[in-house]
Amino acid sequence: MASGGGIYRNGTHRNSLKGTTTTSTASTDRPFSLNSDPSKPAVKIKSSSLVGSSSGSRKSSPGSLGGGAAKDDAGVPGRVRVAVRLRPRNAEESVADADFADCVELQQELKRLKLRKNNWDTDTYEFDEVLTEFASQKRVYEVVAKPVVEGVLNGYNGTIMAYGQTGTGKTYTLGRLGEEDTANRGIMVRAMEDILAEVSPERDTVSVSYLQLYMESLQDLLDPTKDNISIIEDHKSGDVSLPGATVVEIRDQQSFLELLRLGEAHRHAANTKLNTESSRSHALLMVHVKRSVKGRESAHSSENSNNTSMSKSLRPPLVRKGKLVVVDLAGSERIDKSGIEGHTREEAKSINLSLSALGKCINALAENSAHVPVRDSKLTRLLRDSFGGTARTSLVITIGPSPRHRGETASTIMFGQRAMKVENMLKLKEEFDYKSLARRLDIQLDNLIMEHERKEKEFEAEIGRITTDVQNRISEAERNYADAMEKERLKYQKDYMESIKKLEEKWMMNQQNQGSERQEQMVHTAEEVAELNKLLSKETSLRKAAEDEVNNLKSQLAQLKMSEASGNSEILKLRKMLEGEVSQKKKLEGEISILQSQLLHLSFESDKTRRRLDRGGAGNDTGGLDSLFSQVRPQLKDSGNGEKASVARLFEQVGLQKILSLLEAEDADVRIHAVKVVANLAAEETNQEKIVEAGGLKTLLTLLGSSEDETIRRVAAGALANLAMNETNQELIMSQGGISLLSMTATNAKDPQTLRMVAGALANLCGNDKLQTKLSGEGGLKALLGIVKCGHPDVLAQVARGIANFAKCESRASTQGNKSGRSLLIEDRALPWIVQHSNSDASPIRRHVELALCHLAQHEVNAKDMINEGALWELIRISQDCPREDIRTLAHRSLTSSPTFIAEMRQLQIDY
Ligand code: ADP
Ligand code: MG
Repeated sequence: MASGGGIYRNGTHRNSLKGTTTTSTASTDRPFSLNSDPSKPAVKIKSSSLVGSSSGSRKSSPGSLGGGAAKDDAGVPGRVRVAVRLRPRNAEESVADADFADCVELQQELKRLKLRKNNWDTDTYEFDEVLTEFASQKRVYEVVAKPVVEGVLNGYNGTIMAYGQTGTGKTYTLGRLGEEDTANRGIMVRAMEDILAEVSPERDTVSVSYLQLYMESLQDLLDPTKDNISIIEDHKSGDVSLPGATVVEIRDQQSFLELLRLGEAHRHAANTKLNTESSRSHALLMVHVKRSVKGRESAHSSENSNNTSMSKSLRPPLVRKGKLVVVDLAGSERIDKSGIEGHTREEAKSINLSLSALGKCINALAENSAHVPVRDSKLTRLLRDSFGGTARTSLVITIGPSPRHRGETASTIMFGQRAMKVENMLKLKEEFDYKSLARRLDIQLDNLIMEHERKEKEFEAEIGRITTDVQNRISEAERNYADAMEKERLKYQKDYMESIKKLEEKWMMNQQNQGSERQEQMVHTAEEVAELNKLLSKETSLRKAAEDEVNNLKSQLAQLKMSEASGNSEILKLRKMLEGEVSQKKKLEGEISILQSQLLHLSFESDKTRRRLDRGGAGNDTGGLDSLFSQVRPQLKDSGNGEKASVARLFEQVGLQKILSLLEAEDADVRIHAVKVVANLAAEETNQEKIVEAGGLKTLLTLLGSSEDETIRRVAAGALANLAMNETNQELIMSQGGISLLSMTATNAKDPQTLRMVAGALANLCGNDKLQTKLSGEGGLKALLGIVKCGHPDVLAQVARGIANFAKCESRASTQGNKSGRSLLIEDRALPWIVQHSNSDASPIRRHVELALCHLAQHEVNAKDMINEGALWELIRISQDCPREDIRTLAHRSLTSSPTFIAEMRQLQIDY
């Protein structure tokens, strides 16, 4: 800390830099280390153009929020660095939300934040830095502000902003004086300490202005008489100055603290006069640091070291100037609530104006847009030379843990996400391609179906024609054959009869002429015989001719038969072609249903994306929404409404029946997509009833029991977990054999995510008062305990949640006299696991298990078993160490009211 003389003087700061700006040029080409750690690679500063300004004197470098150096080094120049800070539960929340989990979970090492969507599902967001409720003020300063302050000391401008709902800790983070406990000092105080420690009291100056921006009017917090200060922009240098504002030179920390106190008092007074409150205005602290570079690390000093002392004295002194702006922004919820709470239109508009203009500028900078609308509001005009391209900017977004403010928290997170440059247009494009492909295939299929139908008709007509032709020819041939045969037969019969008759006559004549004319008769007889022989040979040749004719007819008939056979083979060929066409049609129909289900899935996704885009342009999968716009548009006030609207649209477009029918599709891909869509729909309370009514619950249970594919089983279990959030559905799931199906799914699961879904479903069932005995009886608790083998923390957290749900319901039933005897959890041997995990490192597991233990301990019947399993020690620990006061109280109460516990402690000589 600087050891100045404790004086500060008022005076108007002259902001003209004429004649001294060479300093910045001196630093322009110097490599500038991004991190305070010199071992990190230095990055050469690039001459990027300024935000809407023509000045090239100060160059930006990627800001760093400390810590994650590797990631930050690759950062985009000028990118706003965003940290999220979670405020601890306050007293009111500890009571009101005692039974509810926080709406967010922070993973500090992974720099991730999980926003709870419902009991078992979360959205994950990445930030540059994630600060949990335990983060110290020192750490917050180091990761959020220190790199910016270092930049300011090196002649760069810098901005530190806090954004969030009122009461989430913006002022705590930035403006806390730390008088009661120095560990609580906020960013403003710590920044000044670092600056004063760096500068030289003789050569350098540090001066401060403190202002409030309320309804587009800029008020001086150091001199309340100045209440409409104008902003002057130097178009050449791009510098912004406030000639009318009080500027106080700071020599030591004590005078700075007095100044902050004075500003706070004036702010309070001004706001009382205006009948408003500080959460509606923006507070801005501006710190100007002017440093003489001469003799220090001037870029020129080493190369010029041989200069003569005369040329040295001719050179103007080098001065390096940096400006730090710390902005405590107005509460982000004010935009939403301005209408409801009866704020005046003017006020609502102007609060909207500055915050939304800030959001727009951040978007434009993030997207490298050619135009950055800095002139739209006083706030952005003021920050014109202090954020974006020319300076380092850190944004800390503050959120609270309460699930009751989930909407506000989500919109704050979206603002932060938007401020981090994230581009994710890919998904949208893909979706568009799929749609047009599906459309094209639809048209193609329609054409094919038409063509197929036409061909089918033609084939049928051709077959009919050929068949009748062949039949006609066959019957004609048969007719001809029969006629010819009959004719021949009659002719031979007649000839034969005539010959017989002639022979008989001759025989008679021969008998009469016997004796007398024996000789003559002999001659006659010989003639007769010759005659008869002749006749016989004639008959024989005739018969032969008839036989030939018959053979001829026979071969004709055979020929006809052959031609009929060839007709038949043609029919067969045509049939085959027809069958081919039919199977092709089936295949295409299968593809269509795959595409339809993909389309379904994609349209669901795209609705989500579109909703995000509607709220502010491109974003990553978590949705980089411009929360400002979402807040001003009432129909998009919270994501819940948007989602509902989109699901309603999906129903209209596709129809639930159609989606459910796809669950039983033959194609596995179709089934997977369909079950995913159903799971997504089931996440919404409004759809759950419809899904159950349409028989979806039954189908999902069947899939669970019969599907070979683990993905399907996993997603189906997830959908069931969603449906199991509702009491009526819980009974239905139980009555339809859900427990045994879920345990079977758990037994066969290879993927921990499957187990997480099953555990989530069982955990929801555990929270039903009426089903406790049945659940235990059907092995539900045993199944839940079987799942712990997996060891994955997310799975264990669900198991723990189930156990806590069960213990809570059971405890309630015991208190109301609806249950007697030992806890079913003890009967089902859950106690060893509970005791083993009651001090788990993973906070979601610990929180649930601690709650379960305390509920069990409320009932004397359980005390003996609890002592035997070692739970007494855990109860004592919980009553002393648990961060949640309500759980501590519960543990304490059970220890002091149970005779069994008291006796045991006395015997163990524990002084409780
Ligand atoms: P805001 O400026 O966003 O409206 P405040 O900074 O006034 O919020 O914080 C609201 C309350 O929460 C104050 O009582 C403050 O002391 C407390 N608070 C905020 N952040 C923290 C924190 N990280 N740790 C402890 N208390 C906090
Ligand atoms: Mg505040």
